[in-house]
Amino acid sequence: MPNIIFIAPLAAGKGTISEYLSKHLGYEHISTGDLFREIIKSGTSLGEEIKEIIAQGSLVDDDKTFQVLKQKLETLNNNQLFILDGYPRNINQAKLLNKLELNNIVVIFLNLDYDVAKKRALGRIICPNCKKTYNIYFDNLKPKVDNICDECHSKLEKRIDDTEETFKKRFNIYLEETREVISYYKDMNLLKEVNANQDINDVIKDVLKIVNGDKYDKY
Ligand code: AMP
Repeated sequence: MPNIIFIAPLAAGKGTISEYLSKHLGYEHISTGDLFREIIKSGTSLGEEIKEIIAQGSLVDDDKTFQVLKQKLETLNNNQLFILDGYPRNINQAKLLNKLELNNIVVIFLNLDYDVAKKRALGRIICPNCKKTYNIYFDNLKPKVDNICDECHSKLEKRIDDTEETFKKRFNIYLEETREVISYYKDMNLLKEVNANQDINDVIKDVLKIVNGDKYDKY
């Protein structure tokens, strides 16, 4: 199976798909957003700086982001499969990543329409403890008890950047920045596209077809 880079707008289902692949296929899920949220929790001055940037819906600078990611990748065993979620976000980041000469990579582009992304992002609530994601606008994604995680019973939270204003900004940054990244990986023959407007189970099935030849029913 290949290592996976997801290129996707916010709320395309990356988190849910990654959780599935970690659980069933042993992938390590590396999300730069999660790495930053951990740094924010540490309460350091770097954390304060990053918190401010994220709350505004802007991007953390490329060198800082690359260092954080590189450090994380260095902790993995040689044969540990991984998913990159949220990196690269622009062409410069893709080129920095290329320097690491990672092999056995597939880049999966989760293509999602603006309106679907908006509904998913603004209704999203997340468990800060186990990271399970819910959505108050979709009946099949609501928690059983309002605001409480089904799995670990922690109180669910809204992300600081899931507001209408930051949504618009983040989606537009995504469109501008990733256009080049997509053609970069297309030229390298690494890109596969999946329609992320579908129900999440169908998106997972399409991703599995790419990753392990459609062994979805097995689970
Ligand atoms: P995410 O959880 O991937 O939506 O990321 C949340 C926020 O973290 C983003 O809006 C950015 O501010 C920051 N972030 C995550 N990944 C990156 C990246 N590759 N480059 C720059 N900033 C990032």
